[in-house]
Amino acid sequence: MNKITFPLLTIARHRLGTDGEGITSLAAGAGCPLHCKWCINKRLLHETPAENVSPEELLDRVKTDHLYFCATGGGITFGGGEALLHADFIRAFREICPPEWKITAETSLFVPRSYVAEVTDAVDLFVVDCKDMNGKIYRKYTGEGVLVMADNLRFLLERVGPERVIVRVPLIPEYNTAEDQLKSAEKLTKMGVTRLDLFEYVIK
Ligand code: SF4
Repeated sequence: MNKITFPLLTIARHRLGTDGEGITSLAAGAGCPLHCKWCINKRLLHETPAENVSPEELLDRVKTDHLYFCATGGGITFGGGEALLHADFIRAFREICPPEWKITAETSLFVPRSYVAEVTDAVDLFVVDCKDMNGKIYRKYTGEGVLVMADNLRFLLERVGPERVIVRVPLIPEYNTAEDQLKSAEKLTKMGVTRLDLFEYVIK
């Protein structure tokens, strides 16, 4: 019996154009190693999830949208929290879900390298929230150093190629400026990133 489970916070259906192509369902899982100041999920992240589901149970909940996924080139997005904390689950899910579904992972890449390596074949599209490439800004905002993310990003680009990696570069109120954002974009381009998404965090 498969003992791998996913600490499910919520499933959001019928998302369009939020992360790659097609209609997707987001499966949000608990847990994240970072402490971002403006994290919208902070309260949920440190709570016990509603339930821990097996790959088969998750498939059962999301398969109702199979036709939408196939018709639009969409599928399942794993988010949270930090999706790659659940790399073993994502891999197991990939093995049982219909092969036409696209699997997307939303990640900060602040995880051990082995977790990234585990899903390079299982995930079609990585959406990386890099925060900022400046080490001081990154630490101030997340509480951690920037090197883990930067090194994992280099590894990922090399392993899967830039087409399967979107890097999101936020303008973070009180933490960086539009100039910092552009500097990060420049560094990322030099690293080989071709799909950049510059945007602004909206603090409510
Ligand atoms: S990486 Fe995302 S989920 Fe984790 S603390 Fe930061 S904003 Fe929240």
